[in-house]
Parts: sequence; structure tokens; C-alpha cells
Amino acid sequence: MKLTNINKTFGNKKVLKNINLDFPTGKTTVLVGPSGSGKSTLLRTLNLLVTPECGQYEFEKQKLDFAKKISNKEKIFLRQKTGMVFQDYNLFPTKTVLGNIIEGPTQVLKEDKTHAITTAQQLLQKVGLADYATAYPHELSGGQAQRVAIARALAMKPKYILLDEPTSALDPELELSVLKVLLQLAREKQSMAIVTHNMVFAKKIADKIIFVENGEILYDGSPTEFFDPNNPNQRIRNFISSMT
Ligand code: ATP
Ligand code: MG
Repeated sequence: MKLTNINKTFGNKKVLKNINLDFPTGKTTVLVGPSGSGKSTLLRTLNLLVTPECGQYEFEKQKLDFAKKISNKEKIFLRQKTGMVFQDYNLFPTKTVLGNIIEGPTQVLKEDKTHAITTAQQLLQKVGLADYATAYPHELSGGQAQRVAIARALAMKPKYILLDEPTSALDPELELSVLKVLLQLAREKQSMAIVTHNMVFAKKIADKIIFVENGEILYDGSPTEFFDPNNPNQRIRNFISSMT
């Protein structure tokens, strides 16, 4: 998927300034940068939770021009292709773990319920929560809740998974359980875009790093070069050393 000439303003503040980005398929793209730089706005644009004033969004054969009105059909298509995982999980509190996972597949994709349940059980196995199908969200730790949110996103068979600081609400021990699941997904070539402040994790999982500052892309390239202590860009060197 690809963004071209994306501009977004909130009030009179330019939050995204002429952004051009490519998110390769089968790879993990990690977005880093200072607080308020525009990372979430960028990620939310990919899921159409944010609508830029102008720019283009290409997803496979689908091409959107933000200067024109986006139809509901286009919105539904792209929302399904880009599964979003939020920092605070956003699970349905009155549904069980299984209920949370099969909701989208049965209601939106109109999957047969038995089939949806089988898939959900496989996904729970994958995220290490096979025994939690009948639990309710309030009975889960943050790390478990986030893994359910990941399973729920995967159940919709999205092309990309978008994760906005998926572990920033978690203690280091619980964080690890989520990072392990994401590393496994990366090994399986699941296309992902992740916003994180965890530089150790970013270095480990990223195929591509994007550094956002003040609504602009200051770096777009390999993690090796980005994390190189001799990176010629001093701003980036300072950022990394302030974060680690
Ligand atoms: P953080 O690391 O703290 O999550 P971020 O890089 O994700 O920061 P964004 O949330 O994208 O940053 O915000 C970029 C800028 O846009 C900030 O100045 C923020 O205050 C502003 N902003 C974001 N969303 C809105 C909104 N809905 N209305 C008004 N301003 C917004
Ligand atoms: Mg953010």
C-alpha cells in the first residue's frame, strides 16, 4: 500500500506535510518519532479513521483520491483490508474472548458461525490463549487482552495489520508476551505497520523504519542504517539515544 502527497491539518496545525510512503507487502514497517509528530495520524489514515485534505492512497488495485469524496464501499473495503489494533485493546466488554473474535467474521464477512469458531480457536492457539475462549475481557491481563485484540484483527483476514503502540500500556513482563506474538507474525510474513516507542523491539522486528518528526518523514529505509551509531543524521542519533 502506498500514500502519495498526503496532507492533514487539525485546526490551523499542519500535522502531515506532503507525505510519500510505501508499505511493502509481507514486511513489517515500523514508525517511530517524538510524541506529537504525527505517527498515529499517519497510521489512522491507512485505516481511514483520519481523512487527509488531499493526497492519494493506493491499495492493490484500489486508488483513493482524498480530495474527492470517499464512498462507503471504498471505506468498508479498506477498513477490512487494514485491521487496526489499538493501544487500549478496545475489546467488547460484554462479549467473551471467543465472542469478540467471531463478531467481525460472522457479522461483517457473513462467515458461517461454526467456521468462524474453528478459525477463532486456531487464532487463540496462535496467540497462546487456547484456554481463554470463554473468559471475559475484565478477567484478562493487559497482555492477554492485547493478544485477543490481535487475534480479533487477524480473524478478519486483513492484508495489513496496523498497530498503534500495542504494548505501551503494559508492564515489561506482559509486554514480552505480545511482542513474541508480533515477532512470530513477522516471521510468517504478515504485512504489518507498527508505531512503537520501544527501540529494541523496533530494531528486532522492522524490515523498514520510518522516522516521523513534525509531520515530515526524516528517514525511510533499513533498520541497520537507522540504528547505526554512525548514522550521519544527528537528529536521529539523538532521538535513538534519548529512547534507549
Ligand atoms: P504520540 O507518540 O504522543 O502518540 P503521535 O506521533 O502519534 O504522538 P499524533 O497523535 O498523530 O502524534 O498527533 C500529531 C499532532 O496532531 C499533535 O499535535 C496532536 O495534538 C494533533 N492531533 C491529533 N489528532 C487530533 C485531533 N483529532 N484533533 C486535533 N488535533 C489532533
Ligand atoms: Mg500516537
